[in-house]
Amino acid sequence: MSELFALNGKNAVVTGGAQGIGEAIVLGLRDAGARVFICDINPEVGNATAERHGVEFVAADVTDSASVEAAFEHVATTAGSLDVAVNNAGIVHNHPSEDLADEDWRRVLSVNLDGVFYCCRAAGRRMLGQGSGSIINTGSMSGHISNHPQPQSAYNTAKAGVIHLTKSLAGEWADRGVRVNSVSPGYVGTEMTKRGMSNEEWRRVWLGDTPMKRVAEPREIAPAVVFLASDASSYCTGTDLVVDGGYTVW
Ligand code: NAD
Repeated sequence: MSELFALNGKNAVVTGGAQGIGEAIVLGLRDAGARVFICDINPEVGNATAERHGVEFVAADVTDSASVEAAFEHVATTAGSLDVAVNNAGIVHNHPSEDLADEDWRRVLSVNLDGVFYCCRAAGRRMLGQGSGSIINTGSMSGHISNHPQPQSAYNTAKAGVIHLTKSLAGEWADRGVRVNSVSPGYVGTEMTKRGMSNEEWRRVWLGDTPMKRVAEPREIAPAVVFLASDASSYCTGTDLVVDGGYTVW
C-alpha cells in the first residue's frame, strides 16, 4: 500500500508554500519522495523555508499570470517535468459587505480565484503535453458554508469558485491523463487564523461550531494532498476532500 502513496521521481510545486498549510504540504510531498519547489510571493520567508527543509524556491505572484508561467516553466525545465501542482496561495479579508471596497473584493478574488486559475492553466499546459499530472487546489469549507461571526463574502465566494473550477477542469482534462481535485480545510492554526483565534467571540463560535472542538494543525491537512497527488487516488478527479473536524456536518 505504501507504494501507492509514494511520489518518488515526481516533481512538485506548491504555491503559498513558504508558511502555514503550504509549508506542511511541502513537507508531506517531500517525505513521500517528490522533488519539491516552494512558489511564493515572499522570497525571504520562502527561501528560508526552502533551505530549512532541503527543497527549492521560485518566486511568483499568483495574481500575475506571466509570473506564474515563468515560475512553472522554471520548475518544469529545471526538474524535467511537472507532475504535481498544489495551488494553495490565499488571503482573507474580513469586512462587512455593505462597506467592502471594490479593491478589497478584487484583491481577494484575484489571489484566491484568478490565481488558482492561472496556476491550473500553467500546470495543465505542461501536464497535458506530457499526458500525466495531478493538480490539487486548496479550497475551504468556506466554499460550502458561509462562516460566522466574521464577515468574509469575497473569500467564501472565491473558495466556492475554486471548488467549481476544479470540477470544470477535471471534466476537461480527465481523458488526457490530468487529474484535478481540491482539498477543503476547516479552521487551521496558521497566520491566517491568528487574529480570529485571539478574538474571544470568534474563537468561541469557531470552536463551538466544530464538532471536534479544536482547529487543525497544518500537518493534518498535508496527507489529504499527498493522497490526491499520488497513484493512491488514481480514480479521483473533480473530488473535493473536506478536512474540517466535522464543521460542515452541523
Ligand atoms: P498563510 O497566510 O499562513 O500562508 C499563505 C501563503 O500564501 C504565504 O506564504 C503567502 O506569502 C502566500 N501568498 C499570499 N499571496 C500570494 C500571492 N499573490 N502569490 C503567491 N503567494 C502568495 O495562510 P494558510 O492558512 O496557510 O492558508 C493557505 C491556504 O489554505 C489558503 O488558500 C487559505 O485560503 C486556505 N485555507 C486556510 C484555512 C485556515 O484556517 N488557515 C482554512 C481553509 C483554507
